[in-house]
Amino acid sequence: MHCTRVNVGGVGAIVCGPRKIPVCAFCHSLGGLLCDFLIGKKKTCDKPICRGCAINIAPNVDLCPDHPLPATQLVLELPSL
Ligand SMILES: [Zn+2]
Ligand SMILES: [Zn+2]
Repeated sequence: MHCTRVNVGGVGAIVCGPRKIPVCAFCHSLGGLLCDFLIGKKKTCDKPICRGCAINIAPNVDLCPDHPLPATQLVLELPSL
């Protein structure tokens, strides 16, 4: 059982469940997105972020507030773009 402290609409709450739930590393809201910023060869930041904190630069490419740019580097790594 994993209990995670989350922020739901500005109110702190504890969510417990069989699995750890993704929580934004910046505002502790329920997350679900991961930072796609490249920090090395084929390696991304992967910091959990929520839709509110994520900086969406392309479809399915979201960055955490620590890594707003550069987008050009990312685009090169994405085969579908
Ligand atoms: Zn957030
Ligand atoms: Zn990041």
